[in-house]
Amino acid sequence: MGMFQLEQLDQSDSFAFPGRISRELMRVAATPIPYMRHAEFSSLVMRCEEMLLELVDNAGGRCMPFTASGTAAMEAVVAQYVGTKQKPCVLVGGGFGKRWVELCSYHGIQCVEYTVPYARDLDYEDWESFLIEQKPDVFLCQHHETSSGQLFDMERIGRVCKRLGISLVVDAISSFLSDPFSMREMGVDMAVISSQKGLSILPGLAFIFLSPALQGYEFSHSLYYFDFQENLKNLDRGQTPYSPATQLFMMLHARLLELKSMGREAEVARVRRNALAFREAIAPLGLSSNPECPSNCVTAFYVDRAWDIFMSLYAQGVYVMPGGDENLLRVSHIGYHSEEDFAKLASLLQRVLGK
Ligand SMILES: *Cc1c(COP(=O)(O)O)cnc(C)c1O
Repeated sequence: MGMFQLEQLDQSDSFAFPGRISRELMRVAATPIPYMRHAEFSSLVMRCEEMLLELVDNAGGRCMPFTASGTAAMEAVVAQYVGTKQKPCVLVGGGFGKRWVELCSYHGIQCVEYTVPYARDLDYEDWESFLIEQKPDVFLCQHHETSSGQLFDMERIGRVCKRLGISLVVDAISSFLSDPFSMREMGVDMAVISSQKGLSILPGLAFIFLSPALQGYEFSHSLYYFDFQENLKNLDRGQTPYSPATQLFMMLHARLLELKSMGREAEVARVRRNALAFREAIAPLGLSSNPECPSNCVTAFYVDRAWDIFMSLYAQGVYVMPGGDENLLRVSHIGYHSEEDFAKLASLLQRVLGK
């Protein structure tokens, strides 16, 4: 008796990324595979780019899709953009900030780190003085540091970078569609997102956004698969240089049409309502919650014996995310859940915790 029998899947529910995916979208991914070089598929890819640009408010910019996970897109940005700069600076507020540093180091790029205590907000004035003293020419950060649930003030970060003439690169993987994110208003030059977070579809696609200011920029050619020039040239005709995950693109397209008709503000508001409903429902449990400024994307809280609690929920077919810190549990709010689902999850948690 395997664990993942179909009958059981119907009863299980996931609050781990990407969370619950609607049956309609799952059906789209199960339709016959289109031929990737046909004009119909090209036009689907082009419509996806257009809708994605609108969702991050990046008119006149570009959005390159890659069949890869989010980290691959981060690596492509580091190798082909950050590597062309003199002095990168990285905001390190947790595991994902550390990943920017590791990617720089892996590619032999020296960077300076600005560390924020785990789950704390930036001291914006101290950070600005650090930049004035260090004079970096590119700044890399997370909008939402998913390991702790901490959301940074991207408008403020963007204003400072602009004033100091520092190019801004943002990993918006877990803030996109959970919290307001606008490349134009925040002055972001380059942003990265991936399919299994804000878009809440299957994992496997990552996207790199270039602002209009990067039109014609001389990127380096250090990665063959991710070569920006080659990918942009293909994208002009709705193609990727190598085999795309066609089914995922079809699912993406259907999801983007949904988002287009509801509007990005409405989606952010929906995720926010779910986050608030869950936080209100667990408030009586008196759990200490983690971040200073929480993102709507996840709720992170400490429980005793977090791994046992995780396993006990798992055995009942309810998936949450352990990790990020010792005895931390995280619940994702991005999937197709309702406020009622979160109230139910809170009472299940209460039972499991014996409170
Ligand atoms: C999930 C995530 C990533 C990328 O993870 P992959 O597993 O490579 O898709 C990067 N940054 C943040 C902030 C994330 O939440």
